[in-house]
Amino acid sequence: MRTILSIENLNKTFETPAGPVQALRDIKLQVKPGEFVTIIGPSGCGKSTLLKIIAGLDIVHDGEVLLEGQKVERPSIDKGFIFQEHRLFPWLNVERNIAADLSLSQPEVRQKVDELIRIVRLEGFEKAFPRELSGGMSQRVAIARALLRSPKVLLLDEPFGALDAFTRGHMQEVLLDIWQQNRTTMILVTHDIDEAVYLADRVVIMDARPGTIRRIVGVDLPFPRKKSSTSFQEYRRLVLSEFERIEEPAGAGNYDI
Ligand code: ADP
Ligand code: MG
Repeated sequence: MRTILSIENLNKTFETPAGPVQALRDIKLQVKPGEFVTIIGPSGCGKSTLLKIIAGLDIVHDGEVLLEGQKVERPSIDKGFIFQEHRLFPWLNVERNIAADLSLSQPEVRQKVDELIRIVRLEGFEKAFPRELSGGMSQRVAIARALLRSPKVLLLDEPFGALDAFTRGHMQEVLLDIWQQNRTTMILVTHDIDEAVYLADRVVIMDARPGTIRRIVGVDLPFPRKKSSTSFQEYRRLVLSEFERIEEPAGAGNYDI
């Protein structure tokens, strides 16, 4: 299997005043070019930690993370990262936020920004400022900014978690559109089972304390998918059943750190 991202025997421990906290244990994952992987798991199971390590934002760990065969040692523009909060520059309008450090007076930048504005469906809002945008629109600007850098992989950490259900559904459509047009490799963290199944070629189900991969479910359904279809619901139930097994039995005590 050709892989773009390879994670081997990844272990991560945080040293805290209360002692070491193992956040990730023996994570192994191979991602194919153009694949859409979603990661789902209970709060605190290490999803954000894993994504940050892939992004090169956290390099203190054991094990190896290789992007196109190169060891990930620092953040770089070939690893796009989308946070739950959009982190736009409030003083720049939409097109300038997308261009960021690149100059719009360069014809190839201008052309690509215009194309991305169309892809993320923000035509007419080029000159708008972040304060004038809804949460979903702001996230689309953040995604366009990441895509302008042609990342090898786009990492999204609960990108739609703060949005209402309707906007979330719309954003899922936009993201699938982007993926189908660009074939950017996507790794998206979510706590929404529907979202995980709807978007993914494979759903990675994680377990907590310490964070491990419990199971990987391949979603063998063609696009466009229908959330109400029987086959979709079967996948949904399959992922949900793993989740229900993860949950601690009643009275097991409070494991919160
Ligand atoms: P998730 O994103 O799945 O909710 P995180 O990756 O944020 O989980 O956290 C995984 C575990 O690591 C949790 O137990 C959390 O408390 C711990 N953790 C995360 N970041 C730090 C940190 N900077 N220092 C100490 N512990 C941390
Ligand atoms: Mg998180």
